[in-house]
Amino acid sequence: MKGSMPDHRGADVRPSPNFGERRDGKQVSILLLHYTGMPDGPGAEDWLCDPASEVSCHYIVHEDGRVVQMVRETDRAWHAGAGQWAGETDVNSCSVGIEIVNPGHPGGLPEFPAVQIDAVIALSRGIVERHAIAPERVLAHSDVSPGRKLDPGEKFPWDVLARAGVGRFMTPSPIGGGPVLSQGEVGPPVEALQSMLALYGYGIEISGRYDERTRVVVEAFQRHFRPARVDGIADRSTVETLHNLLGGLLVS
Ligand SMILES: [Zn+2]
Repeated sequence: MKGSMPDHRGADVRPSPNFGERRDGKQVSILLLHYTGMPDGPGAEDWLCDPASEVSCHYIVHEDGRVVQMVRETDRAWHAGAGQWAGETDVNSCSVGIEIVNPGHPGGLPEFPAVQIDAVIALSRGIVERHAIAPERVLAHSDVSPGRKLDPGEKFPWDVLARAGVGRFMTPSPIGGGPVLSQGEVGPPVEALQSMLALYGYGIEISGRYDERTRVVVEAFQRHFRPARVDGIADRSTVETLHNLLGGLLVS
């Protein structure tokens, strides 16, 4: 995107060579949020622009709120890798990706500064408007790649974003009491849980068996929607929260 204007007003431009064309005429329908998971912002920005890394994203948002665009929104950046959402397996071809500078789980998962979150909100609002992205398709990397990716992590303030009109979040049902489903269980309640997760968009097979895949998908759901406890166990709070989110979706 050398010499071109940024798609987001106020963004700096630093082109990354790591991009291609969106495949099969796919349109943008997902906004995917990441953390960089590296010790500092300049290092992460260099990595995303290094041809040897073969990774990129459309934007990086630094801790001070500075936004840098690396790939045009019309192009396909290389940020999602293997993953799927609602049956779509080429997530890069139908998404815009934002890397948010934060050392992540390897760095002890520090809080995201408010000024950085404000910048993510302003940037995301523009992206969602330009591409008419539905709120339930503003996603975490961990949502599309459960078990493989943890970002942007359970400290990411999805509630703050939703209050600002970006993405979908409902107050989680309180933790405590009720039946619990966990790894190893088999039967109709497991099938019902898997069906609800698949209906929301998660890549999960409806087998009736609470296998490792089910555990990591439940973890991914918790990391986004019930972040107070991320343990891969479908307790009542997890199931109710999922049910509430789905209910709101189906009647909206
Ligand atoms: Zn990521």
